[in-house]
Amino acid sequence: MPRSRPRPAPAFDPIDRTGLRDRYWRDTPLSRMSGKEWEALCDGCGKCCLNKLEDDTTGEVALTRIACKLLDDTSCLCGSYGTRHSFVPECIRLTPSTLPDHLYWLPATCAYRLVHEGRDLAWWHPLVSGDPETVHSSGTSVRGLTLSEALVPEEDWEDHIIEDL
Ligand code: SF4
Ligand code: SF4
Repeated sequence: MPRSRPRPAPAFDPIDRTGLRDRYWRDTPLSRMSGKEWEALCDGCGKCCLNKLEDDTTGEVALTRIACKLLDDTSCLCGSYGTRHSFVPECIRLTPSTLPDHLYWLPATCAYRLVHEGRDLAWWHPLVSGDPETVHSSGTSVRGLTLSEALVPEEDWEDHIIEDL
């Protein structure tokens, strides 16, 4: 006789996605989202915390595996999100009004970019899968891929360009 196994407890989600309307991003404009809906859109991939190299002539942007000194390479979260501007004053504030200025460098998988372009979220997004681990298990996040900017001199960042983000 088959035995039932207890279902594993869902992984802890560091971003509060509780109590949100199912698929709210499909019919709620970014500018009309509540603060909680906006924050919950972030998939936690950590890609926007990688340092970028921008070609002054062509404007082309290349992402490197050199991460902000505050990024935790395992959780892919900021180590001091609430007070980050005390340590990293240049860290951007992504809001509905600043988003258009950052679209040129945001990763193709970024949920803010996708929703802005009228596209849906992928299966691995925690809002779709219900599991904050799928952004990592699908290989979308930067978990285990980064080197801290504290350890690599800026003149060497060009040796660490990564593609297909
Ligand atoms: S790239 Fe976009 S979805 Fe990923 S962590 Fe940054 S803001 Fe969130
Ligand atoms: S300060 Fe935090 S949120 Fe900003 S780039 Fe660094 S790790 Fe990311």
